[in-house]
Amino acid sequence: MREIHADVVIIGGGVIGLSIARALARRGVRDVCLVERGGLGAEASSAAGGMLLPQVEADGHDDFFALACRSRDLYPSLAAELRDETGIDIELDTTGTLYLALTEQDYEDIEQRYEWQTRAGLAVELLTSAAARELEPCISEATFGALRFPNDIQVENRRLITALANSVNTLGITTLTETTVERLIVDGHRITGVQTSRGEISCQRIVLAAGTWSSFIRRIPAITPVRGQMVCLESKPQLTRHVIFSPRGYLVPRQDGRLLAGSTSENAGFAKRVTAGGVAMILRQSLEISPSVANLPIVDTWAGLRPRAADGLPVLGPCGEIDGLFYATGHYRNGILLAPLTAELISEAIVAGKTTPLLAPFSPDRFSTQPVLSV
Ligand SMILES: Cc1cc2nc3c(=O)[nH]c(=O)nc-3n(C[C@H](O)[C@H](O)[C@H](O)COP(=O)(O)OP(=O)(O)OC[C@H]3O[C@@H](n4cnc5c(N)ncnc54)[C@H](O)[C@@H]3O)c2cc1C
Repeated sequence: MREIHADVVIIGGGVIGLSIARALARRGVRDVCLVERGGLGAEASSAAGGMLLPQVEADGHDDFFALACRSRDLYPSLAAELRDETGIDIELDTTGTLYLALTEQDYEDIEQRYEWQTRAGLAVELLTSAAARELEPCISEATFGALRFPNDIQVENRRLITALANSVNTLGITTLTETTVERLIVDGHRITGVQTSRGEISCQRIVLAAGTWSSFIRRIPAITPVRGQMVCLESKPQLTRHVIFSPRGYLVPRQDGRLLAGSTSENAGFAKRVTAGGVAMILRQSLEISPSVANLPIVDTWAGLRPRAADGLPVLGPCGEIDGLFYATGHYRNGILLAPLTAELISEAIVAGKTTPLLAPFSPDRFSTQPVLSV
């Protein structure tokens, strides 16, 4: 590859890198180059369940909750735009989510969640066991009760990746796949380019969106992999219309008859393996939700690596130590959910040169080892 120049280089072609590339192009930045080590979206972004559930597990209102709700609420317009731009339906399913209480302790927890979310004016319904089973007859007879979250929805994340990749292509962004970024090129405290496996790209701005591999490019903040395994069942007709969640597992119905059952949360390094123990645990969790799962054929299994920062929160915004370096990583369990807002806020920070206060709690500088100098 001869030496090329770009205005902005994005490292990583998962849902985060692709969404930012699209947002930059839509804000008028034409000279964007996205560099992806393998194929677009082939890592965590394809492994995910596509659930957009800020409310389901939230026990209070904090900065992360606000970010997640705002991002979820961008999905209907994103789905419409992507359909217009690419003709691809990302299968945004707005049926909602049921969160089951399958033990007495689960029930105490959901009552508390119901109370704070109702007080906060959020949409949530408390259902008796009978009402929940009337809505979804497949759920276990042992259900004590359930919460229904009408606004916590799901998207077909693999179709989302395809639509984003098509959109980015139409918008004229250069995508280099099968190309690894080996290191950042920095002159003093300023970005001047990246060294890739196929040559150098000169640029003044870089977005680090390499998911769980981000720390191979810059050590701090440390992003570590949390493995999640998934079992794909076939259910025709579909077992459930809602996403069904419990404190231990979940079932996600897809329009084509696939029923995703997840997941595990393992510190297993970068070994992206499906294990007998992982599959056994997922099936146990799924059968607890719905004994009917026992009759369904298993059609696929896979594993992916969730990118986690030390405090479990995303790492978003400009780097205080190196001018021109922006982080968009550490999305952990919520990268599909957070992609639309991440793209808006990071592209705004790059184009307008200022960051919104919304990003402050997620700044990469919270992990900085440099002492803050007082003057
Ligand atoms: C089993 C499972 C279920 C999940 N379910 C959900 C869910 O329901 N809802 C939700 O919101 N989130 C979910 N997630 C989390 C979500 O998948 C991630 O947070 C999200 O995909 C992260 O996106 P990303 O683009 O940062 O990372 P990735 O998709 O991993 O993309 C990073 C990309 O960077 C590339 N890369 C790495 N190093 C380099 C380099 N040096 N040079 C060039 N390219 C490089 C990689 O090849 C990769 O393609 C789930 C994850 C798993 C594993």
